[in-house]
Amino acid sequence: MHLELNMSADPTQQLFQMIDERRDELVELTRALIRFPSVNPPGDAYRPCAEFIGRRLGKRGFAVEYVHAAGTPGDDERHPRINVIARRESGAHGPCVHFNSHIDVVQTGAGWTMDPFAAIVKDGMVYGRGACDMKGGLAASIIAVEALVDCAARLPGTLEISGTVDEETGGYGGVHYLAQRGWFSPGRVDHVIIPEPLNVGRVCIGHRGVWWAEIETLGRMSHGSMPFLGDCAVRHMNAVIERLERDLCPRLAARRTAMPVVPSGARHATLNINSIHGGAEEQSGYPAPCVPDSCRMIIDRRVLIEEDMDGVKAEVRDLLEQLVNDRAGFAYRIRDIFEVLPTMADRNGPVARSTAAAIRRVLGREPEFICSPGTYDQKHIDRIGKLRDCIAYGPGILDVAHQPDEFVRIDDLVNSAKVMAMAARSLLLGAA
Ligand SMILES: [Zn+2]
Repeated sequence: MHLELNMSADPTQQLFQMIDERRDELVELTRALIRFPSVNPPGDAYRPCAEFIGRRLGKRGFAVEYVHAAGTPGDDERHPRINVIARRESGAHGPCVHFNSHIDVVQTGAGWTMDPFAAIVKDGMVYGRGACDMKGGLAASIIAVEALVDCAARLPGTLEISGTVDEETGGYGGVHYLAQRGWFSPGRVDHVIIPEPLNVGRVCIGHRGVWWAEIETLGRMSHGSMPFLGDCAVRHMNAVIERLERDLCPRLAARRTAMPVVPSGARHATLNINSIHGGAEEQSGYPAPCVPDSCRMIIDRRVLIEEDMDGVKAEVRDLLEQLVNDRAGFAYRIRDIFEVLPTMADRNGPVARSTAAAIRRVLGREPEFICSPGTYDQKHIDRIGKLRDCIAYGPGILDVAHQPDEFVRIDDLVNSAKVMAMAARSLLLGAA
């Protein structure tokens, strides 16, 4: 009798009901995750946080593995880079749907009106560092997957959840390390959802690229009272900035990508000057009276999918070479710091389509397809893992990430869990 009732009911509706019943559990899980102060750098509390996730999913029939990214940046005895991967194979042939969340959070910073790790619930929201980016998303994906495991109809295929480290510092001890070792590869995983905070009604299909470089201008030291005897590296850097402003920035602003990047200002190529430093270090409040012989500037160039990385670098080098020709005494060095190529999944691919359909059903509105202005771990899954069917979808509000009094709305947690569960279900059934 009971079985017949279940079989006749709409399975998606059943799934939603199950998630609604677990609303409080979802809130408590989010809070429990926030209470691990997994601040990166340095990478605190990674092991207990990973083990908490592993223990929970282990009890639900998942095979749990911990991967220590030994020797990656920041890894030492006090701050081991511990990742957790939990996998549950149904036994029936089907694809593998993977939810990947980073467990690290950024520093708390100033301006909090409450304890960032107390996970306070107030006015329909959970507050705390990581609530939005992205422990709320991780909790929603765990509840979604558990509901799928518990739902009446047995589903084919494999469900996988990972909690990975170091996303906020480039992912080298996390998804980068795992992708290099085959954890994210075709044959093992088919579809990936990353519950980053990109708003509950949006499907994020990719991100712009990045190039960081250090430019150093060189001068000649002399006594500050006789600057005409030296050659000031800071003034040379000023000339570099003038050229960037005059020649490069207008060209970048004129380039517009077909990627649906939000906010719209980020639909253009951009350049930021991250830092600039010239001259002697300040001792007892004052620098030495010297003409600086070195000035260093770090630039952050965000790259569109239509641009080519070699061309992006050549543009800056050409500008510096022009200064060598035009400006007396101009000499420079340039050093690559790191680069990430832009990435964009197919918006008509299975994971984007099934997530979009689930948003329509759960929220009753058209989903928005977007790209992120900054990067996240999709770059490693795509470029190293060669898994193209990957999107970001999660409950947090993008603008709230990394801010004081960071929060996630409980309604968004529940709705995103429903979207993730419904999307995964249709992917497992091959219906997307
Ligand atoms: Zn994040």
